Amino acid sequence: MSNLIPMLFTQADAVAKPAPMILSEQEKASWFARIQDELVQHHAIIIAHYYTSPLIQELAQATGGFIGDSLEMARWGKQHDATTLIVAGVRFMGESAKILSPEKRVLMPTLEANCSMDIGCPIEEFDAFCDAHPDRVVVVYANTSAAVKARADWMVTSSIAVPIIEHLDGLGKKILFAPDRHLGRYIQGKTGADMLLWQSSCIVHDAFKANTLRQLKAQYPDAAVLVHPEAHHDVIALADSVGSTTQLIKACTQLPNQQFIVATERNIFYKMQQAAPNKQLIQAPADEANATCRSCIHCPWMAMNSLEALERALLTGSNEIQVDPQIAKRALIPLNRMMEFAKTLNL
Ligand code: SF4
Repeated sequence: MSNLIPMLFTQADAVAKPAPMILSEQEKASWFARIQDELVQHHAIIIAHYYTSPLIQELAQATGGFIGDSLEMARWGKQHDATTLIVAGVRFMGESAKILSPEKRVLMPTLEANCSMDIGCPIEEFDAFCDAHPDRVVVVYANTSAAVKARADWMVTSSIAVPIIEHLDGLGKKILFAPDRHLGRYIQGKTGADMLLWQSSCIVHDAFKANTLRQLKAQYPDAAVLVHPEAHHDVIALADSVGSTTQLIKACTQLPNQQFIVATERNIFYKMQQAAPNKQLIQAPADEANATCRSCIHCPWMAMNSLEALERALLTGSNEIQVDPQIAKRALIPLNRMMEFAKTLNL
């Protein structure tokens, strides 16, 4: 059964995309060496998401930092002995790092980097929605504010959402799921659980279209299609593998195909190509009218994590993530619940 509420957020086309920085190898080496020194001085480490630019991912890698999905980022930051975490990603990732490591200073290159799902699930409306459905267990995706997590019983990431909902369904629970309607529908299809879905979505994954993906598949009949579950169900229906960013990278290494059509944010190619250097990666198209369009498959908020902004935050200590301690304490409950469940699955 699925009940839907009105859509609260539409496309954020107006978000500016900063131009990528073009550096010579020498200039890049000089930037990296300088930032490496500054990281040491500040006892800091960079934690970057797969969707940040290849330059930021390369910097994280070159300076002993980490690249991963949102949960891996928070977990890695917690176990590292650095006292300052520079989180290159979007705001909810910085908040999750702070919730898990309240004793550490968490800085971000910019606090403007947001997420359409998070914006589309404001706490006031979400509170009222939960109040209207007290019979349901509240499960929220990682892409939510600390305040929304604090209202939840469970948190999930895309890599563990299906087994957690299966578990709750097995206990006879009815679910209220937020904020991604596509991920919610995907989980519902896999588990058959009774889920009431909030209606937010990702502007990047919303851009993939089944028609143009079908055209591209016809051009590359031997290619396997990798799709993130934040995409529309018509796009997911064409996938050979559906999964989180980490799971898609793994699928690329494990499937026997030599070509892959990839339906997620294009900066994942940086790590995917490292993991599978001999395989050909093809970006899934976004535009109905032109199957070769690459313009829309880019998160404008992730792109705000520039080298200059990262260095500025490190040098000035600006853009520190603050989470109200009471909210953090409450948000830690669904987060810890998920992590304990992950341990039982060896995830
Ligand atoms: S890619 Fe989509 S889900 Fe990820 S941060 Fe950007 S808008 Fe949010």
